[in-house]
Amino acid sequence: MPKNRHRRLSALVALGAVTALLAGCATGSNADVSGEPSEGRPVVLTTFTVLADIARNVAGDRLDVRSITKAGAEIHGYEPTPRDIAAASDADLILDNGLGLESWFARFVETADAPHAVVSDGVETIDITGDAYAGKPNPHAWMSPLNVQLYVDNIVAAFSELDPAGADAYAANGAAYNDELQRIHDDLVADLATVPAEQRALVTCEGAFSYLARDAGLTEAYIWPVNAEQQATPQQIRQTIEFVQDNDVPAVFCESTVSDRPMQQVVEATDAVFGGTLYVDSLSEQDGPVPTYLDLIRHDAETITAALTGSAS
Ligand SMILES: [Zn+2]
Repeated sequence: MPKNRHRRLSALVALGAVTALLAGCATGSNADVSGEPSEGRPVVLTTFTVLADIARNVAGDRLDVRSITKAGAEIHGYEPTPRDIAAASDADLILDNGLGLESWFARFVETADAPHAVVSDGVETIDITGDAYAGKPNPHAWMSPLNVQLYVDNIVAAFSELDPAGADAYAANGAAYNDELQRIHDDLVADLATVPAEQRALVTCEGAFSYLARDAGLTEAYIWPVNAEQQATPQQIRQTIEFVQDNDVPAVFCESTVSDRPMQQVVEATDAVFGGTLYVDSLSEQDGPVPTYLDLIRHDAETITAALTGSAS
């Protein structure tokens, strides 16, 4: 449901509906804000690559969906550039995750003359339990494919308001993608069900896996709750080492957008191995391991399962 709507969309929609018929080609799935010309299609700006991919699955080729942050970027503390701000004022719709993920976003949309929709509206959140963030909702709700089904419903509604002529197409695209999300959820749960009971702990750098851990029935531990400038204090590392030792955790992980050095300290101090890089806050480049959201979930489920069952090479 669009929030903070600054102006009516009808004029844009009329223009978009006509020009969308003429527009044939979709941009690459990692197109950034400076990407190809939109060929008259309405421009939808998203805050990060994961959200852009989900939105493209709903948009099909009717809308030009772009991501403000690039593949591999740290998103929590991102500093928008003047070019980002210019792109935002040209956008027809801006989608953000909400739940405090994009700490820079409120300041950013203040200067943008485009409506925006919060895609996590209606998600049942899990609170963060550590540090200064205690009691705030964990923003990484997309790490549950079932939550992303709600994201999709919100995106279908926002796109249908932007471009009413495409409402049937968005509903059909959303339904098809929601079926895929159900399948990837089922696969995730089945994969992780093979991890023995005494090894069902997921230890990561950032506490970004609460939703995935809930879906898969894992116990979650992490060095720091949310990526920020002050990370991995000696106390946080000591607590993680104790958790790994107390629970005989066989493998630990870190995410693609932060340094894994603190987790390597945990590996050195314990019997755990480094289980691999997980993806949360960003997709990879097109030719990397996780060019899409579905790839991201599949990659993480396989990496966690292989490392915790000891079947990783
Ligand atoms: Zn994060």
